[in-house]
Order: sequence, then structure tokens, then C-alpha cells
Amino acid sequence: MRTKAAIFYAPKQPISVEEVDLRGPMVGEVLVRVAATGACHSDYHVVDGHSKAAITPLVMGHEASGVVEEVGQGVTWFKPGDHVVFAIRPMCGKCKYCTTARPNLCNGIKAKPGHMVDGTTRFSKPDGTTLYHGLATFSQHTVVPEWSLVKVRPDVPIDRLASIGCAVVTGVGAVVNTAEVKAGSTVAVWGCGGVGLNVIQGAAIAGASRIIAIDVAASKFDFAKKFGATDTVDASKNDPVKAVVDLTDGGADYTFEVIGKPQTVRQAFEATCLGGTACMVGVPPEGGEVSIPMRPLFSDRRLIGSSAGTGRPRVDFPWYIEMYRQGRLKLDELQSRIRPLSEINEAFQDMLSGDVARTIIKP
Ligand SMILES: [Zn+2]
Ligand SMILES: [Zn+2]
Repeated sequence: MRTKAAIFYAPKQPISVEEVDLRGPMVGEVLVRVAATGACHSDYHVVDGHSKAAITPLVMGHEASGVVEEVGQGVTWFKPGDHVVFAIRPMCGKCKYCTTARPNLCNGIKAKPGHMVDGTTRFSKPDGTTLYHGLATFSQHTVVPEWSLVKVRPDVPIDRLASIGCAVVTGVGAVVNTAEVKAGSTVAVWGCGGVGLNVIQGAAIAGASRIIAIDVAASKFDFAKKFGATDTVDASKNDPVKAVVDLTDGGADYTFEVIGKPQTVRQAFEATCLGGTACMVGVPPEGGEVSIPMRPLFSDRRLIGSSAGTGRPRVDFPWYIEMYRQGRLKLDELQSRIRPLSEINEAFQDMLSGDVARTIIKP
């Protein structure tokens, strides 16, 4: 079929929205019409060269929701018309990690970057040029393996659920699944972008007593407060470690780094109390290293990493949707700007300017 997709050719160049050809679903695959897709920092990391694209030209995008249009042979879990949310990690259901309830770490699916497991791709340009892709949600339609989708209840507007599969599970999951924040504890969060706001609302859901939002862009603090922050620290003007230690009388029980920089990972570690936990959520740069002082670690402190929120998509996504229906999880507030696919470059500019919670693209 002919559809429209956003193609990444090289770092620091605008993404190009073009007509493309999409092959129908093969065995075990599903064709989805994308209803809404989020402009996520991990896509932008590729655009600005912070993360290296494994292969180009590439159709990016991974945070999305949509409606099933067609299923390939052997697919029994989905049928046309089903509402689905994309899961950012594949889940084979057979490996050590899947069978011990850690599907976010699944390593049972071997596919070359940008390819399906059969070694081919589903997207190409009208002139026949191969286009590489993962979930490829920066497109009006995409074809993905069925393990990349979670079926959700059909009575919630599907375009509202786009961020569940990335920003929400990464943020709320880091709090609830990875760090297991206890009710009554104190929390500090470095970075108030789309994922950071979800760490903040995860901490509120978990019953944290104080939630300290830290950023260098004060424009983000209105969003942070809306999502549950009790205190804010402008790190462009204040030492965030000292601020957190002062506000919590000795350090926070849990700190979250949602930026992906060595300096802020170290700050998050140094701002924990005795026995506290610092959790790195931000995507680290290629080859990034962090050093931490050893004596504080000797006081039962922990420095841990969270990958895709230690999420279990088929359990967690329906839970998020229940909370959204009940007004306990903010999704509408996250979609602070909506743009068409043709404005994908502007969507990333929104993210850099710091005046949006998340820009959602409706292809
Ligand atoms: Zn993402
Ligand atoms: Zn697995």
C-alpha cells in the first residue's frame, strides 16, 4: 500500500515526510493505522547525533497507539478494528527474562537493527530504495510483529493513549516497578520532560510525601506541579544537590535522573539520604561513564538503572488506562500540543524549547 512516513537520512538534517510503499503483514505481523505518536527524546537523540542510527534511511517513531487494519498469517491475538498501544521492547515469551517477569530485558528476538526478524523490511521508497525501521510510528501506517502490540479496551479514545508505551511506562514504571518507591518517602527528579513528568506522577501515585522537580528550564515547572511536584529547584541558579538535601533534611529516599548525563547521575546519587536509592532513567550517551564517591555508597545507598520502566506491557498498560479513566493518571495534560506528521521537525523543536509536556503527532 502507499502511505506517508517521516524519513531520517542523516544527523542534524531535517526529517523528510514522503510518500512510501508499505508491504502488508507477513507471518505473525500486524498492519496498524497510527492514531497518535509522541515526539520522544530518544528519537531526537538520533536526529541530533547523541545516539548513532544503526542504519539509514530510517523510519523512526516508537511511542504510539492505533487501530489494527490487517493481520498476517498465524496471528490469533489481534483482529482488524482492535485498539492497540505499541510496546517499545519486543517480548519473546520464552527467554530467561520473559519467563521471570522482566520482559523489558528480553533478549530472545534476534533481528538486525532496522530489519524484521526475517532479515527484510516492510517500507521502501516508490523508486525501490529500501527503508529501514523499527516500530516506524512516524507514519500513517506501519507493520510490526504482534509481540510489539498490546490490545487495549476500545471505549477509551485511542489517540489519547499514545504515550503509554514510552513516556508513561518509562517514568511511572521506574518509580513503581524498578525503584519500588514506598508511600511516605521523599523523591527528587532531575529533568521534567515527557518522561520526567511521568516519574513525578508515578511518585504521586506511589504516595510520596515530597516530590522535588529539578530542571534548568523554569518553564517546565508549571507542568511539573500539575503532575504532582511539591517543590521545584531551578538548577541553572541553585546547586540541586544542596537544595534537595536541605528540603528533605539530609537527602531524598529516592532520586531519579531523567536526562542521561554523567553530571546529573552523580548529582542524583549525591542527593540521596543514607540507604537511599538513585535511579538512572535517562538514555546514556554512547560510551558514557559516571564516577561516584565510594564512601556514600558504603552507607547502604544504591545506584540502579531502569530500562523501559522495568515494564510488563500486558499488565501495566491496562492498569494505566484504568487509572486514566478514573482520573488518577494524567494523559490529556501530557498532550500539550498536537501537530500533523508534516510538522515533525517542529515537534522536536517544541521539545527543545521546553514549553510543551509532549508534542503528539497525528499522522
Ligand atoms: Zn520514547
Ligand atoms: Zn524474551
